[in-house]
Amino acid sequence: MSQFDEGAVVDDQRRRLDQIRLSGITATGYHGVFEHERREGQTFVADVVVHLDTRRAAARDDLTHTLHYGELAIEIAAVLEGEPVDLIETVAERIAATVLAHPIVQAVDVAVHKPQAPIEVPFGDVVVAIRRDRTKLPAAEPYVAASDRHPTPAATRSGPTPTAAFPVTPAPGSPAAPALPPVPAPLEAPAIAPGTAPVAAVGAGLLVAPAPEGALPDGVHATVPDVVPSVVPDEGPDAIGAPSPEQEQVPSPATGEVITDQFDRTPDAPVDVVLALGSNLGAPQDTLRRAVSDLGDVPGVQVVDVSPLARTAPVGGPEQPDFLNAVVLARTTLSARDLLRATQSVEQLHGRERIEHWGPRTLDVDIIVYGTLTAVSDDLEVPHPRAHERAFVLQPWAQVAPDATLPGLGGGPVAALAATAPDRDGVRWLALDWLTAPVPAAAPEPDAHQPAPAAQHASHDGNPVAPA
Ligand code: ATP
Ligand code: CA
Ligand code: CA
Repeated sequence: MSQFDEGAVVDDQRRRLDQIRLSGITATGYHGVFEHERREGQTFVADVVVHLDTRRAAARDDLTHTLHYGELAIEIAAVLEGEPVDLIETVAERIAATVLAHPIVQAVDVAVHKPQAPIEVPFGDVVVAIRRDRTKLPAAEPYVAASDRHPTPAATRSGPTPTAAFPVTPAPGSPAAPALPPVPAPLEAPAIAPGTAPVAAVGAGLLVAPAPEGALPDGVHATVPDVVPSVVPDEGPDAIGAPSPEQEQVPSPATGEVITDQFDRTPDAPVDVVLALGSNLGAPQDTLRRAVSDLGDVPGVQVVDVSPLARTAPVGGPEQPDFLNAVVLARTTLSARDLLRATQSVEQLHGRERIEHWGPRTLDVDIIVYGTLTAVSDDLEVPHPRAHERAFVLQPWAQVAPDATLPGLGGGPVAALAATAPDRDGVRWLALDWLTAPVPAAAPEPDAHQPAPAAQHASHDGNPVAPA
């Protein structure tokens, strides 16, 4: 694939990353500026090189620790044949974003070919080739096919239904084929190497919203210039006028760069974070186990400790099954927003669909705190604005971190907040060893309240919590 810059991508210790190469993914798409291109469609071809560390998967011969290339090929073909855009540059960015949505991916090379482009002289091919990684983010969102957003029978899909020419097989573990064997994923936290160089947050040409002094969490330093750089997206005066800390990321069509806020700042030392996990659809305990493992697989995320498993009555939303909840203590070198993206990718890995707010879900991962950062934007608020009143978050958190304090409005000692939260009677303990023990055949009776497994949380391979 000579169109790619052959330069290797290296990890934080300057070791060359492994690659998965997918070439010649072919589909009929409707991209282009001409009316006939939109009407008749033409062939688009994508080549993708994914840069990642495949050793964990190889060591265990386990698909869950790498990327399923059959599944990835389907996602790439969906971009080629999906919502039409004018430029293959945009198609390439979308493919890059879709690939980078997999947390294990560190960088991606994408080439999009348009061999039947309307060019008036004889030509062989036209290709746009880009490299994107976690420092040079794609100027597009991960692509979700319309049929995935609002599931509709294939027969009722409107418009042309192009098919991918790449030979693909449904992936085990994909939402379409949830057939993963119920093997518990052992909890293993990949250590963040000492001296790990956090990725540089931004390059030249970014418009940066400076955070107020003191608004960064411990260990988070402003690695971004607090000045408006010379290259500014040509979007009129609003784009450059006094960016606020709440400013959202705005991809700039002119430069392909993005505007950032303090949630995009990369810490220069690992930041302690608290994540709350919940599930009440599918096989919740298995999902939560895998989610813990998946979070630990995210480059730049280290799982430090995991709470006991709680069964909790749903709070708010429609009538729905009880939840299983757990809290994960982790340490990250990711920015808050990259962490949000990573948690959302893990949700998607487990088939999360956002259909109804507070409705049943296969997996919900909320960022409860990110260091001591207190901030809000359109897409993210930390501390989580409802954490202070949720026993299903506070109680597991207090089990694993008895002295923790929730910062921000309504915050305080977590154990005290847990004891008074309105939903406290809805929390029942299941097990300490839920990460490793077999999934119980039957869930406990709804009224089988069990004592909190005080002081036993340190062992995840101990015995189940004794009934009261
Ligand atoms: P709740 O936030 O009340 O727990 P929910 O978890 O059901 O509700 P979701 O549909 O999972 O809500 O998330 C809605 C949006 O919340 C997400 O798209 C995300 O951008 C935003 N969000 C804001 N702050 C956070 C946070 N701290 N952690 C996770 N998501 C957040
Ligand atoms: Ca939630
Ligand atoms: Ca959520």
